[in-house]
Amino acid sequence: MFEHLKPQPADKILALMQMYREDPRDQKIDLGVGVYKNAEGITPVMRAVKAAEQRIWEDQETKAYTGLAGDPAYADAMIGLILGASVPRGNIAAVATPGGTGACRQAFEMVRMANPSARVFVSNPTWPNHLSILNYLGIETVQYRYFDGETRGVDFDGMIEDLKTAKAGDVVLLHGCCHNPTGANLNMVQWQEVVNLINERGLVAMIDIAYQGFGEGLEEDAQAARLVASSVKRCLIAGSCSKNFGVYRERTGLLMAISDDAAQTALNQSTLAFLNRQNYSFPPDHGARVVTTILQDEALRADWAAELEEVRLSMLGLRQQLADDLQRLSGSDRFGFVAQHRGMFSRLGAAPELVEKLRVDHGIYMVGDSRLNIAGLNATTVPILAQAIVDAGV
Ligand code: PMP
Repeated sequence: MFEHLKPQPADKILALMQMYREDPRDQKIDLGVGVYKNAEGITPVMRAVKAAEQRIWEDQETKAYTGLAGDPAYADAMIGLILGASVPRGNIAAVATPGGTGACRQAFEMVRMANPSARVFVSNPTWPNHLSILNYLGIETVQYRYFDGETRGVDFDGMIEDLKTAKAGDVVLLHGCCHNPTGANLNMVQWQEVVNLINERGLVAMIDIAYQGFGEGLEEDAQAARLVASSVKRCLIAGSCSKNFGVYRERTGLLMAISDDAAQTALNQSTLAFLNRQNYSFPPDHGARVVTTILQDEALRADWAAELEEVRLSMLGLRQQLADDLQRLSGSDRFGFVAQHRGMFSRLGAAPELVEKLRVDHGIYMVGDSRLNIAGLNATTVPILAQAIVDAGV
């Protein structure tokens, strides 16, 4: 049977990581994979995570299974973090998932179960794994305009025009904050317009929020998700703790299905538990327990939020430095978008040949669509990158 297998397309970002590792140059710069790195190029374990792990090590008396939905305390803590008090708890069904990827996967499976003819509208561009999983599940996708190649901001008129082609029951997938791969985001007035359109047309909102705390701040980054969740009849929210708690490999995510009806919420909850059972049974617990421990303890939570804020501000500082250097070296304001974008990424809007040139000539690794990971930079490498970008004629 194995001889019938066909090679699957390699993940471009993982392939880029491999090339970077094999590059013998000392001065190479990795702006590829979406992992936060500090100025020393290290992805640290956050202080509060270490402290919570120590506490768990000391206190935990069993490794017996949790529930199919994971520990309910984790769901409560994460719902509080993402949604605050914007939605009554009784309207939210929630399960722990292996990372935000697992949450997206389960959300798409739920969509397919509930409405096999639903199409999923995704931004152009979006995180490639959205499309990959949707294609794998045989769910039809429609891309809506999102990135304006001229301004490097959001093409909001194009987005609305394209979303108007969605039919009742279609799903609109939106990035809650810090859009990946572009770094360009809607403002709250635009979010309200999207919400109105979703309600007018009977669409289903889905929010993927993987970078809460990386953009404008923990509360600010949750505003859009809260607006959507409290204004629409039904929605799905896929959350990830990978980035904001730095627990990437622990696979820690949460999927919420929100409805305005308690009976529907009970059915949603049992469906989500069923889907967990079919795919991996009990979701991973360690990362979820760490996150719960932090969120439930005032001191740990404050320390975590403070460290996350340092991370956010360091990325904003790098953005500003890069934008300033680019302005100085190019003598133009056309790179101002670097300072406007939010989150870990910015899409430069450079042609693939130029991205290739930066790699070959300068050892600068960014994803082929010209997405760069701001956190891959430091005060020393920003001027090198700025010079290379200007020399390459981006
Ligand atoms: N959604 C988006 C938009 C992402 O960028 C990521 C991380 N790359 C995820 C979801 C999920 O990440 P993870 O599965 O590692 O939690």
